[in-house]
Amino acid sequence: MGPVRSSSTKLSRLLDLIVHSLYSHKEVFLRELVSNASDALDKLRFLSVTEPALFGDGGDLEIRIKPDPDNGTITITDTGIGMTKEELIDCLGTIAQIGTSKFLKALKENKDLGADNGLIGQFGVGFYSAFLVAEKVVVSTKSPKSDKQYVWESVADSSSYVIREETDPENFLRRGTQITLYLREDDKYKFLESTRIKNLVKNYSQFVGFPIYTWQEKSRTIEVEEEEPSKEEEEEKEGEPKKTKKTTKTEKYWDWELANETKPLWMRNSKEVSKEEYNEFYKKAFNEFLDPLAHTHFTTEGEVESILYSPGMGPLNNEDRVFISDDFDGELFPRYLSFVKGIVDSNDLPLNVSREILQESRIVRIMRKRLIRKTFDMIQEISESENKEVRSIFKKSLGSKLLPAIRFFDYKKFWENFGRFIKLGCIEDTGNHKRITP
Ligand code: ADP
Ligand code: MG
Repeated sequence: MGPVRSSSTKLSRLLDLIVHSLYSHKEVFLRELVSNASDALDKLRFLSVTEPALFGDGGDLEIRIKPDPDNGTITITDTGIGMTKEELIDCLGTIAQIGTSKFLKALKENKDLGADNGLIGQFGVGFYSAFLVAEKVVVSTKSPKSDKQYVWESVADSSSYVIREETDPENFLRRGTQITLYLREDDKYKFLESTRIKNLVKNYSQFVGFPIYTWQEKSRTIEVEEEEPSKEEEEEKEGEPKKTKKTTKTEKYWDWELANETKPLWMRNSKEVSKEEYNEFYKKAFNEFLDPLAHTHFTTEGEVESILYSPGMGPLNNEDRVFISDDFDGELFPRYLSFVKGIVDSNDLPLNVSREILQESRIVRIMRKRLIRKTFDMIQEISESENKEVRSIFKKSLGSKLLPAIRFFDYKKFWENFGRFIKLGCIEDTGNHKRITP
């Protein structure tokens, strides 16, 4: 079968758009490709629960990134679900119209949000960010659903692609996808440096739940045994075996190095996690553009880990009505605090049982109390930290007289977004009435 060719003006328009709008944030390509690799690994893990054959002998679930200065390429390899030929055509060959137009619209409306806020990844066009740095992209992929491996190849600006079957056994993958970027001349200097790649992975992909290895130069001390024929000894002890002396030397070599922390954020010690990490996690986990106003991370009874966030903006509907999701309605969190986002992780929470049993559970009762208290602490912190900051600025310039007149920014924002929830709390949660009323 001959190669499949396709071209589309839509594709070309999209590529132009991506290249121009994200020009100053070229490095997002790595985040997007790693995110796709991670999705592919997730998909495999999920599907192989019911169909273990998919896992086969394709190896561990992992991602490897290798810059190759000699050839001017970066290769990103995952052992995920891969793509069949049809999937290659579907996923990389055509652009979902809806994704494209949504993306265009969002870019127009949020010019200053830019690439840093993950816009490109939100609209199903992340893959094309590869063309920010690459003049040619080659995707070689092996799905466990097919016994053949296929290669997709496209040159930037050509708005067309070619698909062929992989026939060279040297390039065979057991399972998953390998993406090779042939970097543009200017970008070679920036992205072929292995420590730069490692740092980008650390920054962008720290919450990927699979190990990401990058190819790094390392050094190690090795012991070398040197024969040391001392002349006097030689003369004296002629005939005896020669003595050897051990010395050490430093040797350079290349190897894979784990670049990310695979332990989930909530399992880590809060003292060792920076505010930036909490904020990044929030945006990634809840698909948010804006930083949260505050967070709180705590352990309950030494067995339940929780992180709660006060979102940076309110729910998108502008109606003056509180929308409440049904997920945990009532068990862990009162309805009026449903705007809080977060993660509660426990091995012992009996989640598969009926509501009645859950409500009876001792740990759930304790959790509920503690989640509410921690949420109040968090809200109070928003007002207090703002107070302190603003106060010190105004003290310097105005003295303290005007202070009571100032409405503090973040807390004001919080109240505008979530005040109606808190008011509902005044009515619903009589036990906590004192804490809620300002
Ligand atoms: P999104 O990730 O939002 O779906 P992308 O443009 O980033 O959009 O990727 C498009 C599609 O291409 C993915 O949904 C997936 O089906 C496929 N794909 C991309 N990268 C991989 C990969 N490494 N392994 C398997 N499939 C992939
Ligand atoms: Mg993607």
